[in-house]
Amino acid sequence: MSAEPAHRLFPLFADLRGRTVLVVGGGAVAARKVEALQDTGARIVVGARALSPPLAALAAAGAIAHRAGDFAPDWLDEAWLVIAATDDSAVNGAVAAAGEARRLWVNVVDDATLARVHLPARVERGPLQIAISSGGGAPMLARWVRERLEAQFDDAYAPLATLLARHRERIRARWPDLAARRRGFERLLAGPLQALLRARRHIEAGRAFDAVLQEDGNALGSAGHVALVGAGPGDPGLLTLRALRVLNEADVILHDSLVSDEVLQLARRDALRIGVGKRAGQHATPQSGINALLVEHARAGRRVVRLKGGDPFVFGRGGEELEALRAAGIRYEVVPGITAASACAAYAGIPLTHRDHAQSVRLATAHAQDSLDTLDWPALARERQTLAFYMGVSRLDLLQERLLAHGRAADTPFALIENGTRPEQRVVAGTLTELSRLAKAHAVESPALLVVGEVAALAGHLHWFGAAPLGAADAALAHAA
Ligand code: SAH
Repeated sequence: MSAEPAHRLFPLFADLRGRTVLVVGGGAVAARKVEALQDTGARIVVGARALSPPLAALAAAGAIAHRAGDFAPDWLDEAWLVIAATDDSAVNGAVAAAGEARRLWVNVVDDATLARVHLPARVERGPLQIAISSGGGAPMLARWVRERLEAQFDDAYAPLATLLARHRERIRARWPDLAARRRGFERLLAGPLQALLRARRHIEAGRAFDAVLQEDGNALGSAGHVALVGAGPGDPGLLTLRALRVLNEADVILHDSLVSDEVLQLARRDALRIGVGKRAGQHATPQSGINALLVEHARAGRRVVRLKGGDPFVFGRGGEELEALRAAGIRYEVVPGITAASACAAYAGIPLTHRDHAQSVRLATAHAQDSLDTLDWPALARERQTLAFYMGVSRLDLLQERLLAHGRAADTPFALIENGTRPEQRVVAGTLTELSRLAKAHAVESPALLVVGEVAALAGHLHWFGAAPLGAADAALAHAA
């Protein structure tokens, strides 16, 4: 092993305004470096025999200058910074040597030993920039970290950084002492400021900012807020980035029983978790009780996440909760989730509106006898549409009978997806006349989503997740066993 002396790179952010940066090379790699230099105010000179079309377009537009020909040391005369980005290592080496002789900072693309400065992987949110380096040794790792950070920091950091920069003097004057400034800043981030920026409510965000600066405890600055969040169907990979971010910021999480443990594990470790759905041996908290809890925790200044299975606005009573929050004067945001119909169809291989078979899809629910009675059966029984029923599995007999009575064909395919997207997912498929019998034979339990329509048959050959659909033959086997 070589005994290289341990050293680390020193990170710097450079103000390049009005300074010449020379990029040697006219191909795709050089073009990427030129792109990274855009908006820095640098005077960009690209030295190369010929320019690739994108670089030629920039030169024609006056965004860069082209120095045509083969590299010569006098190209460095005006440069403050040099990037060697040709595909010829001899040329790159010559650029590095010439730069070294002139005490210039030279970056050599893809050559950590020749480069004296490295261009980091970056995450950019307006004036806020996060630069990542692995010391040149593991660029894949740096890129991987960058992707993680991209997911973690949402767009609202750009206006946040701009806002803080604009009021820098006020912030310093308000909290001259560094420790106090830090506490004030934490109060600022604990409040609704970021949620308001995410919701593009810049005027209110400005007010929330002022309130914290004026230390007005009753004003917007310290009030809590509620994020109504769709947790998707169970597979944590189906959570949205925004849902993940608000889960990371939450002080309190009120979740339904449909929300999977895997999703809950992604939330901030020290958040208070309150289950309000029906769980084994426990009763569900009534809706009025949930509303009261939301209001109570938000009033105490906490960041509350109301986490619901699927999408909060699809048979999720999310609207009622927003009404209660609105009435209590508590601010909120809504993060949509992947609803069971999309998720179960996708994981069962059922294209809901395959154009050969369906022109529309209906989402319907029937959790109790009376809700079954009030459904518009003649409309549901029409052909060339897909039905997705969100419901318990106890009244499938009635559903089957009504659809047939109103004229839906006896051989209409169905697929019943139990625990969609979860490791335990099962799909039972058949035709409408067999629905209730097959569901019983396979002992299908909630949560299960029922898809009725020609497209349901496609699960037979398009399935990809878990086992193939179970059908009549399997039921006979199960019976015989
Ligand atoms: N807001 C939720 C639906 C709540 S109603 C959403 O958008 O998905 C509850 C019903 O949704 C269940 O009875 C079941 O029919 C369906 N459902 C939810 N998650 C499911 C899953 N992982 N697999 C199958 N069905 C599911």
